[in-house]
Amino acid sequence: MNIIRNIEEFRKEREKANKKVGFVPTMGALHEGHLSLIKKAKEENDFVIVSIFVNPTQFLKNEDFSKYPKKEAADIEICRLAGVDILFLPDANEIYQKDEPKVIAPNIRGFILEGFHRPEHFDGVLTVVLKLLNLAKANNAYFGKKDAQQLILITQMAKNFFIDTNIIPCDTVREKSGLALSSRNVYLNQDEKTKALSLSKSLYKAVSMIQAGDLNTKNIIKEMEKILCEVEIDYAAITDRELNDIEKIELKNTVILVAARVGTTRLIDNMWI
Ligand code: AMP
Repeated sequence: MNIIRNIEEFRKEREKANKKVGFVPTMGALHEGHLSLIKKAKEENDFVIVSIFVNPTQFLKNEDFSKYPKKEAADIEICRLAGVDILFLPDANEIYQKDEPKVIAPNIRGFILEGFHRPEHFDGVLTVVLKLLNLAKANNAYFGKKDAQQLILITQMAKNFFIDTNIIPCDTVREKSGLALSSRNVYLNQDEKTKALSLSKSLYKAVSMIQAGDLNTKNIIKEMEKILCEVEIDYAAITDRELNDIEKIELKNTVILVAARVGTTRLIDNMWI
């Protein structure tokens, strides 16, 4: 595995890989969720690039940028064992210059839900993803459904900006308890971890209501909110896969999204129906 921190070296090595390339961008502190993306990339491509970059521009001023978990040595080992070809570990000075252009998230979809609670977060996400996609020039890039709104906006950006990389959605990996794996779960103590389960429980409740034939989104959200009463809920919402509000569940075209704070940790989860 080639570990590269410098853009010029990255470009040189990338040019040598005259094969089908899969790309997995991450912020590190890798877990089984990330690994599932890397495995899928390995299966579907001949050459796999993983990037680890904690992107400063997607964090708001009051957020956890400076304490975001860093586990570089373990991450390198995980990537090596997974058969990654290039692990790209740039620092912020490689990625950003002073006073440069940036991507602005779409007016509506970029500023509702996560974008409402984290204004300009998606400007930072889309900007860094555009930079990384341009560098990696991959055939396929892998993103988790766990970050549903992010995945939807990146898919839209790739289409609107005519980016020559397929954006591949990947299923959410969970603990047996139902808790979605996240690098931020390390912030949770035992009591908070128990409370955090109400996010996935509320989603499973929604699924069971839908299976029982209740497709009314207001009813479903009301029941979800009862389960979410133990945490500080930011939103429980049901949208179609373009993030428009809907009154009735549309099978294969719906996302159910929740975000809540548990202690000082903010968690998100969702279910694609
Ligand atoms: P992050 O390092 O949190 O920026 O995540 C990097 C990529 O891994 C993103 O595309 C995430 O959506 C994806 N990801 C994070 N957690 C999970 C999970 N539990 N299951 C599947 N993919 C995930």
